[in-house]
Amino acid sequence: CGIVGYIGHREAYPIILKGLQRLEYRGYDSAGVALFDGTDIKLCKTKGKVADLEHRVKDEISTKGTLGIGHTRWATHGVPNDVNSHPHYSNSGNLVIIHNGIIENYESLKKELLKRGYNFKSETDTEILVNLIEDVKINEGNIKLGKAVQIALNQVVGAYAIAVFDKTKPDEIVVAKLGSPLAIGIGEDEFFIASDASPFIEYTKNAIYLEDEEMAIVRRGKDIKVRKIKDDSLVDPYMQELQ
Ligand code: GLU
Repeated sequence: CGIVGYIGHREAYPIILKGLQRLEYRGYDSAGVALFDGTDIKLCKTKGKVADLEHRVKDEISTKGTLGIGHTRWATHGVPNDVNSHPHYSNSGNLVIIHNGIIENYESLKKELLKRGYNFKSETDTEILVNLIEDVKINEGNIKLGKAVQIALNQVVGAYAIAVFDKTKPDEIVVAKLGSPLAIGIGEDEFFIASDASPFIEYTKNAIYLEDEEMAIVRRGKDIKVRKIKDDSLVDPYMQELQ
């Protein structure tokens, strides 16, 4: 399983597609991508191989856009099928997420969200998480995505590497890690996100590997901000020079 993301000045899709291919060695049963084309999210996902995703993308969506996330899934909650594949939308359609790992307390979170009127298309734990983030965001007074992710993750038991963005504020991607790996490549006015550095090593030699219980916000034209999920303290991340 693997995650890839890009925000910058290049077309995101070719970087994400190639990145997913490089992460195929990690094993997976489904693949998907969500791109922001300047106006809306274009999403395509499928059970099967990255090559199957590539064919479907050709037929189904425009690949325009300089922000995107891509995923290969190793199913833990819900069988491998198109609907359970990532990315997953929140109920409003504004947020979209990819996730590697397991949300262990997803059933109790789901019960709460059902009571609050949320509904779910997939059987995944991941779709619970993206709606928990949305619920927090709205209830706390439409707070920033990073803050909502942080509050939501403090209610989560489990393991994750996630990347999420909001189409109403499409200048940033929020990522977080506990248990599953997450690397961030730092370029010139561009950021790469991936499970390991192989998807972005040809573009930049500067990388940050998030530690467990850290989250980061990568924003167009801004420096990366890394924080501890638990107490919100700012982390001075160690920038690694890749060989
Ligand atoms: N638990 C999530 C799911 O089953 C993510 C699995 C993964 O790590 O790819 O959809």
